[in-house]
Amino acid sequence: MAYYQPQQSVTTAMSDVSQEDPSEGFGPSRLGVRTTVDEPLSASQAIEVLQAGNRRFVQGDVKAGGLGPDMRRALASHGQRPVATVIGCADSRCPVEQLFDARPGDLFVLRNAGNTCTHAEGSMVGSVEYSVAILETKMILVLGHTGCGAIMGATKLFLERSTQKYIEMTCRKDAQESTDQSTEASESAQPPQPGCSKKKSTLLGLLDALVPVAEQACVELEGGSTEEIAAHAVKVNVWRTINFLLSYSLIIREKVASGEVELQGAVYNMSSGAVEFLGKSPKQEKLLNHDGHVVPSMGGLARQVS
Ligand SMILES: [Zn+2]
Repeated sequence: MAYYQPQQSVTTAMSDVSQEDPSEGFGPSRLGVRTTVDEPLSASQAIEVLQAGNRRFVQGDVKAGGLGPDMRRALASHGQRPVATVIGCADSRCPVEQLFDARPGDLFVLRNAGNTCTHAEGSMVGSVEYSVAILETKMILVLGHTGCGAIMGATKLFLERSTQKYIEMTCRKDAQESTDQSTEASESAQPPQPGCSKKKSTLLGLLDALVPVAEQACVELEGGSTEEIAAHAVKVNVWRTINFLLSYSLIIREKVASGEVELQGAVYNMSSGAVEFLGKSPKQEKLLNHDGHVVPSMGGLARQVS
């Protein structure tokens, strides 16, 4: 099947997905681009075309070019039927559609710094719910990436706070210091907190929400350099976002529990261009029994998900 060539029928198109060379396309499309006249792809089919698209990207054999007038009109007239929902980082070096060799209409993409849900006050979760409930995507992929600046920022903040806590403890134990000196040292060691810092910002809130990710990575590694902790935290953060979705979206949880939708993780390697697919969260089965259905606000219940 030629890439994005219109199909004769939906039945024929769907059968082509399992029989064709996966390197030949990004899912069937009767009108040359994916629209609501096409059937949704299953989770396994979606993963297959995502993997094939990334292989083309890595090999420099990309197929997704510009859209002609007919394709644009088809998208405008017939609505969207993307093959997957992807939550990625806003990093300009990680353009989700391009690294999967996808066209407009192929992917429902949500991006923010750190590919996280913890700071989004529900907008990310609500958007994912829209994609699975209305657009009928069966695959939700949370995509982290190497060298993530948001994760590095959170890691540095975590390590700064750890150092400050150590200094504070040392000062309190120092019997030679006067009470006034100890108090002054303790106050100066307080980490910046959202809501009370003179440098309060939403950015600090975002990094603050990611600090538990760095903390967990540090614990799992039993220490390490800032770079080592940040690198491991990228995967920890992917699981955290997935676990958050499972914990606080009844719609997603029910669809995953029924087997209709799959929620998987992946990490994009900026150097090689390859996406490492990580599969399902190790905590999925446990979280499917979670009873949460209201997304917590920033810095609140989000800390409880790990
Ligand atoms: Zn990033």
